[in-house]
Amino acid sequence: MTYAAVLFDLFDTLVRFDRDRMPEIQVSGRTVRSTAGHLHAVLSAHAPGISLEACHEALVESWREAERLRAIDYREVPAPERFGDFFRRLALDPATLPPGLGQTLIDTHRSQLGKAAELPSHHGPLLERLAHRYRLAVVSNFDYTPTAVDILEREGVAGLFSAIVVSDAVGWRKPKRAIFDEALGRLGVRAGEALFVGDRAEIDVLGAQQIGMDAAWINPDGVPLPPGIAPPRYEIRDLADLAEILEV
Ligand SMILES: [Mg+2]
Repeated sequence: MTYAAVLFDLFDTLVRFDRDRMPEIQVSGRTVRSTAGHLHAVLSAHAPGISLEACHEALVESWREAERLRAIDYREVPAPERFGDFFRRLALDPATLPPGLGQTLIDTHRSQLGKAAELPSHHGPLLERLAHRYRLAVVSNFDYTPTAVDILEREGVAGLFSAIVVSDAVGWRKPKRAIFDEALGRLGVRAGEALFVGDRAEIDVLGAQQIGMDAAWINPDGVPLPPGIAPPRYEIRDLADLAEILEV
C-alpha cells in the first residue's frame, strides 16, 4: 500500500503524557497531581476567600462535566467553556473579575500540562524521515489548540506537520468524521490515500475506518481489540514499527 499522507493522534501516540510530571499538591490530607495549586495562586490575588481545596474540587468537577458532555455526542467542550463552568462552581462572576483572568488561568493550566508531555527521543528522527516521503498531520482530541502546538514546537517537530488539527477548533472530537475531514482537506488527500496512526481503538481506529482510511493501532501492551471494532490494517507495539510499514 502506498500512502500520500500519514495522520497521527497526539497524546500517547506522538508524545507521552506522564502524570508524575504534573505539579504535586496537598488537598484534604491527600497528595494529588493537579494544576490546581498554580491556578489557586493566580486566583487568590482576586478572590482571596477561595481555598485550594475548593479550587481543586471545582477543577475536577468542571473536567468531569466536560467529559460527560463529550461522551454524549463527541462535541468538544473547549477550554474557555470548561473554565466558565469552573468559575460558576466557585460562585465567581467573570464580569466582576479583571478582564483576561480566565485567559490567564487557561494559560497557566496549559503551561503546567505541557510540561508533563514529552516526545520520546526516537520519535523525532522517525518523523523527519517520514516527512521527506509523506504529508503529515496531527489530529488530536483536546480542548485547547495552543497546548498541542506548544508541545510540538518545544519538541522541535511542529514544522514537520502540514496540518495540526485539534478538536476545540473543529468543534467535534474523534471518532466524528468532521475532524478527520478537516485534516484530509488541509492535506489535500482523500481518505483512501492516507494512514491514521493512534493508540485508541474506539476513537482513532474506528474513526479512520468509518471514513475509509487505513489505521495503524499502537497497542504497546498487546491488549485485545474492543468488541465491535474490525481489526485495523496494522497493529504495532511502538511508533518505531512504522519505519518498516512506511519504508523509511
Ligand atoms: Mg491518544
